[in-house]
Formats: sequence, structure tokens, C-alpha cells
Amino acid sequence: MGGYLKKENLIPLFIWLLFEIVAVSLWLIKGNIFYLFNFSYLGTCLAIGILLYSKRVKHARHVVQFAVGSYMLIYLGLICRENMQLEGFWFFLFLGVFEAAVIHYAIAKIFGPLLFGRGWCGYACWTAMVLDLLPYKSPQHPRRKIGFMRYIIFGGALLFVIGLFTFRVSNLEYIMFLSFIIGNVLYYVIGIILAIALKDNRAFCKYICPITVFLKPASYFSLLRVKNNVDKCINCGRCIKACPMDVNVIDNSRKRRNGTECILCFKCVDECPIESLSV
Ligand code: SF4
Ligand code: SF4
Repeated sequence: MGGYLKKENLIPLFIWLLFEIVAVSLWLIKGNIFYLFNFSYLGTCLAIGILLYSKRVKHARHVVQFAVGSYMLIYLGLICRENMQLEGFWFFLFLGVFEAAVIHYAIAKIFGPLLFGRGWCGYACWTAMVLDLLPYKSPQHPRRKIGFMRYIIFGGALLFVIGLFTFRVSNLEYIMFLSFIIGNVLYYVIGIILAIALKDNRAFCKYICPITVFLKPASYFSLLRVKNNVDKCINCGRCIKACPMDVNVIDNSRKRRNGTECILCFKCVDECPIESLSV
């Protein structure tokens, strides 16, 4: 564990402060204390998780994933009946309701990745929290060229919501709740089958997940990213082999292979025998 250990207190503090600023601002702007509770909880979970992880506490990332992911799935999704899936975002956006789902997408998936890349995928996604428990932690085959499927699903979610409004379907809130449940069940089933078939836990993230259409562009410019000390690096390739997302982390360029796929899991940093990688 190299350079990122030196920043072990700064990165979680930065993340925590960022979420607190959002929590307090939204609380004051919207006059709803839910935002203070919601974003403080998320920021605190993420900050504690990153801090524990940097101190080599085993399974720290998974603990954060479950603390955040299950809170969003069970509390926000099932109990509060807030559709946090892609169709929920389009639905509330078209209604002009700037509430939980839209705010969540704006912060975690559209603009936030400018700062913390695809931290969402590594620490918060409730689909990936289950997929990461499967046995294929590092891909065993080269990436397939089927990533176009995510764009089809992205378009499908958009068309679904446009259809609901165009045909003036009634009982929209119930339909959105139902689609949240059906969508999640499908995601889990497809994700698990794909992971086993392709021997790759994150196959769903690479080929199917429509959220990546939002996540990838801003992640290209991410402030937080793993960098390689090229003067130190011995090109052993262990980091690339260990990476669940096939990122060529040896290359420091923003155009590095699969650069916008990095989920900040720091597995590469752990694998490097000479501590050449850092954040
Ligand atoms: S790519 Fe999609 S399924 Fe995978 S972690 Fe990111 S949001 Fe979750
Ligand atoms: S192993 Fe490294 S490059 Fe790959 S996703 Fe994790 S942090 Fe990013």
C-alpha cells in the first residue's frame, strides 16, 4: 500500500466535507432535514470506509458498499418508495421535481464523478455490492466488445418513461415503484448469470449497466485517480492483472485503456510489489 496511505486522513476528510457541504446546503435550500440526514449518513459511511480501507482493515470497502447500498435499496427504494433507478431519474426530471432521485443522480453520477470518478461503483452501488461477493474478483478473459448493450438499456429506460407520459398512463407512482422492484430483480439475476458465465464479477458493470453512460464522461476528468510513478515502475503487470475493470493503470494518461472504468477499489495499489501506484 503505497502513496495513498500518506493521504489516508486527507481523502476521507475531503469526501466527508464534500458531503457535509451538500447536506447542509440542500437542507437549507429545500427546507427539508431529510437531506441533512441522508447526505451526512452517506458521507460518513464513505469517509469511514476509505479510512478503514487505507488502514488495511479487511473487507472495509464491502462494509461501506453494504452500508450505503442497502440503505439506498431498502430504505430509500423499498420503504420510502423512491425509484432510484435510471427510469426514476427520468421520471422525476420530466415532472420537474428536483427531489431525491434527481439530486442523487446529479451528485453521485453526473457531476460528482468530476471529483471522485466512479467511486459510486466501488463504494455505493447496491447491484455491485452483491456481485462483488462472487468468486471471480479479477477477470479471467479479455474484455468482450459488447459494451454497446448499456446504450440500448439506457435508451430503453428513457423510452419507457416517455411512453408513460405520452400515453397518459395512470397510477404512475405505483408503476414506478413496480418498475424499481422488477428492474432490480432483473439486474441481480442478469448480473449473477453474466458473472458466472464470463467468470467476471463485474461483467454486468462492463457491458450492461446503463448508469455508466452518465458516469463515464465525467470520470474521464476525475480529480481522484490512481497514478503510476513511472520512474519506479518495473512493468511487472500485476496491477493490470488484478484490476477488476481491466484498466491499464500503468499508463498515466487520461486516455489510458478503460480509464473511465476505474472504480477506485485500490486493488492495483495493493498488488504493486514496489508501491509504485498512488492516488
Ligand atoms: S457500473 Fe452500474 S452496476 Fe456496476 S457498480 Fe457502477 S452503477 Fe453499479
Ligand atoms: S484495480 Fe486500480 S485501476 Fe482497477 S478499478 Fe481498482 S483502483 Fe481502478
